[in-house]
Amino acid sequence: MSVRRHDVVVVGGGNAGISLAAKLLRDGCRDVAVVEPKDVHHYRPLLSYVAGGAATLDDLRRPEIEVVPRGVHWYRDRVTAVDPDASVVHLAGGDALGYGDVVLCPGSRVDWDAIPGSREAVATVHASTSYLPEHAPDTWRMLESLTSGRAVFVISDRHVPCAPVGLKPLFMAADHWRRTGVLGDVTIDLLVEGDHLVGLARADRELRAAAARYDVRVRTGTTVERVDPSGRTLHLRTPDGPGTLGYDALYLAPPHRAPEWVATSGLADEGSDGFAAVDPQTLQHRRHPRVWALGDVATVATSPSGGALRQQVPVVAHNVAARRTGAPARRYDGYTVAPVTTSRHALLLAEHDRDGNAEPTVPFPDLVRPGRGLYLFDRYLEVEVYWHRLLRGKVS
Ligand SMILES: Cc1cc2nc3c(=O)[nH]c(=O)nc-3n(C[C@H](O)[C@H](O)[C@H](O)COP(=O)(O)OP(=O)(O)OC[C@H]3O[C@@H](n4cnc5c(N)ncnc54)[C@H](O)[C@@H]3O)c2cc1C
Repeated sequence: MSVRRHDVVVVGGGNAGISLAAKLLRDGCRDVAVVEPKDVHHYRPLLSYVAGGAATLDDLRRPEIEVVPRGVHWYRDRVTAVDPDASVVHLAGGDALGYGDVVLCPGSRVDWDAIPGSREAVATVHASTSYLPEHAPDTWRMLESLTSGRAVFVISDRHVPCAPVGLKPLFMAADHWRRTGVLGDVTIDLLVEGDHLVGLARADRELRAAAARYDVRVRTGTTVERVDPSGRTLHLRTPDGPGTLGYDALYLAPPHRAPEWVATSGLADEGSDGFAAVDPQTLQHRRHPRVWALGDVATVATSPSGGALRQQVPVVAHNVAARRTGAPARRYDGYTVAPVTTSRHALLLAEHDRDGNAEPTVPFPDLVRPGRGLYLFDRYLEVEVYWHRLLRGKVS
């Protein structure tokens, strides 16, 4: 086994990993390595628009080589373990990388096992999800072709990245059904595991009002325990007890889980569901000071989102350097954002901290009021901001 050493090793070349690597270079760190097995980088927020029939997969994909910052050493490999005592990262290909600091950004992945029957259900034409690129186009095919019957939208609160965006396919489909004159023939149920649709109270009210305009039956505190794909039936746990619900079209924002090697490397705590146990403010590991985590894999006591990385990236970049110089650490207040369409042309932005306090990027206009400008911003402009600013570490 050969061991090469880098000043900072970043695990994962997704939104968090590439943005952080670029920011570290900008801040003067000379020796940064990224480990990422995939050749293609996805701008994942556009998956919701693919599922809503307003984008294609081509709109959100770029070769990974184009987004890895020049000067960063890219290992096209997969991390299988981190040994924080030896300060070594192990790769599937057999190599090992020594590090000064290691930053975990491997994201999370769909946990089909959390809802028995859900994996089998999405293999049929009657169920789908926007949370995987291979299913997002099917979601729109399924919703667009429904002209009568029951459409059920399910949003889990178990580590789903930017969970409220699961409402985008709902509102875009409902608007489509209204425009094509079939809304009255489609019964829409929204089942939400948590007690709110989004973590900002005023935005929650806006979304419930939008749901009411399409006659959506909203049920919070409702968990899908099992799916029976052949009978097209959901088995539910509700505040009133167990129940069942049939469906003709089923959309799932399914539970997610952390990569297993985070826990087997001793980097998750009991109660963290296997996610990296970092201080939610400094993003430094609670027991291993040279280990950091951000993005969907980190326990940060707020809803994970790409928007949250605008603040997490500069915090980690600063704190990695501060650990070495003894400078005071920067703190992340739990800022997160959920952009949710309320139709095929309007969108609101719910920006808040981890306590649910509003934290708008700009005081004016009111971003919680659904508008066309915001829709265009989220669908088109934000995509360019992602490729040209966020992935290039242009955050402060
Ligand atoms: C359908 C959908 C819609 C979304 N919409 C929005 C939105 O509108 N607004 C918003 O702010 N956020 C949104 N998000 C959330 C946002 O995309 C994520 O929060 C963000 O991508 C998290 O970045 P990450 O780097 O932590 O994870 P990812 O972007 O998932 O990247 C993780 C990377 O790590 C790699 N990796 C995994 N395991 C290993 C390993 N063992 N070794 C090396 N590399 C590994 C993966 O291949 C991947 O490239 C959405 C997410 C989805 C799925």
